Amino acid sequence: MQQRTRRWLTVGGVLLALTLCATGRAAVQVRILGQPIELSPAPQLAEGVILGSPATVVGKLGCRFMSGGRESLIVISPEGRRIILVAGSSEMSIDGQVRRMAREAVMAGGRLICPLRPVLEAVGCVTRWDEDTEVLDVEVPLQAVDVYADEEGARIDVRAPLRVEGALFRIEEPQRFYVDLPGVTVELEHERTYVNLGSLLRVRWGQFKQRPAIARVVADLREPDDVRWQPDEDGLGGSLIVGDVHGDEPLIERHVAWITGISSRTDDGDTTLVRVELSDPVVFDYDVARRPPRVTVEFPDAAVQMPVAPLVVDGPFVQTASLEGSPGEPGLTLSLQMHQLVHFEVVESSDPPAVNLIFKRGRLRDKRVVVDPGHGGRDSGARGAHIYEKDVNLDVALQVASRLMAIGAQTVLTRESDVFVDLYDRPELANRIGADLFVSIHCNAMPKPNTGWGTESYYYHAHSKCLGLIMQAALVKALGRRDNGTRWANFCVIRESDMPAVLVELMYINHDEEESLLQRPEVRTAAAEAIVEGLRQYVEGTGTEAEHTEMGM
Ligand SMILES: [Zn+2]
Repeated sequence: MQQRTRRWLTVGGVLLALTLCATGRAAVQVRILGQPIELSPAPQLAEGVILGSPATVVGKLGCRFMSGGRESLIVISPEGRRIILVAGSSEMSIDGQVRRMAREAVMAGGRLICPLRPVLEAVGCVTRWDEDTEVLDVEVPLQAVDVYADEEGARIDVRAPLRVEGALFRIEEPQRFYVDLPGVTVELEHERTYVNLGSLLRVRWGQFKQRPAIARVVADLREPDDVRWQPDEDGLGGSLIVGDVHGDEPLIERHVAWITGISSRTDDGDTTLVRVELSDPVVFDYDVARRPPRVTVEFPDAAVQMPVAPLVVDGPFVQTASLEGSPGEPGLTLSLQMHQLVHFEVVESSDPPAVNLIFKRGRLRDKRVVVDPGHGGRDSGARGAHIYEKDVNLDVALQVASRLMAIGAQTVLTRESDVFVDLYDRPELANRIGADLFVSIHCNAMPKPNTGWGTESYYYHAHSKCLGLIMQAALVKALGRRDNGTRWANFCVIRESDMPAVLVELMYINHDEEESLLQRPEVRTAAAEAIVEGLRQYVEGTGTEAEHTEMGM
């Protein structure tokens, strides 16, 4: 029986091979770890089953294979799993367990040919077949990302069941290294390990690209450090080494930092503190919006253990503080609904680690303000049909300064006449005298006249956005032009200034209607008053959001 069956199937195998060649059917394209590979013999598709020689594929993934007698094949995976295939049988043995295949294995040209996918999956591959392109992707799943770390260094072990290859890349600002593993898929329970030891802040991983797959493992650093990728000797992954590693680093199992408390305090009518206590120091980002007034703080690595009810906050600035996020899941937003926007600071403290938002109103007359009329001298700025930007800027700035001085605020102008002042000297002056506020006054222009109009305000640092929002609202209200919004921009004067700094573009000087407005003294005075009013609302918390109206084109 044995003998007869085998002989008959050998004949069948030859017939099959002949049929595949004779019909000229396109061979299946195989990609191993994202790379197209020429296999001989080329795998073929027959009635929905991909037939090929498993030995030619698994050898590229670190498996050993050997002939188990004349007409059988033994494949041993790097993890020691043993797969036995026998010509003439549709049964495959995986560590002694029998599994059926859709077709029998046959011998052709001295090689054992059988359905490819079950064998590849048995050794630990992920196979994906695309019917449209007739491409079979042979991929390897990421098995584990284990982080061992102490204050001096970290070892991030990236493990796979089969041979993979990684390439290290680096990004500056923020300091970040990542390893890309082509043809590797990611289906792990956690996507990150929060570390916060030495220079290593956290490790993240995920599917960077779907097809062909690329797995990416990222090490976010707090400060520059040496990082290298060290492939495993057996090729089953590798290690990202950060700093100095001695081999005695403990396994880090923290996935998130916990929020351990949220509280608020209003000592008097002028100061409100909202405090978020954490199990560990974390990175965070904050933002502010005006309609409705809201301050948000994002904590990508922190989570709550159970839902926290919104906190009702006393005082004139903050209404409620709520934590938005799913318990146990990293990625949390602290959202403060505000009565009104006012100057605030975000300050980290330790013992216990905490992030403090301090809303504090003061008096404008106690502040040191730098007023910066844009351009000057040989730099005329933008031009209208009749006027130069530098002249409008100076006129408005002088009026701002005299109003500020009238109420007693220390005021410094970066120029007081039509002279050229270097861009960098302007914020440098503000930083040198320890100014509290910086306002740069400009008029806008488009390359083509009459194509742009309206008012906008620019900020660079997060701590300047609140001033930008309040200033923009005051200007739009006073000038009645189109509200082009408060925007982020990389302008030297606001980037280099240490204190809250805003650059305003009053109107477009090469728009006929706005140029004629900018020529009118009462419009310039209204602009100057609005700038002082914006500063006052920001410092003193006297803005009333309901007043805001929108007019203009
Ligand atoms: Zn300008």
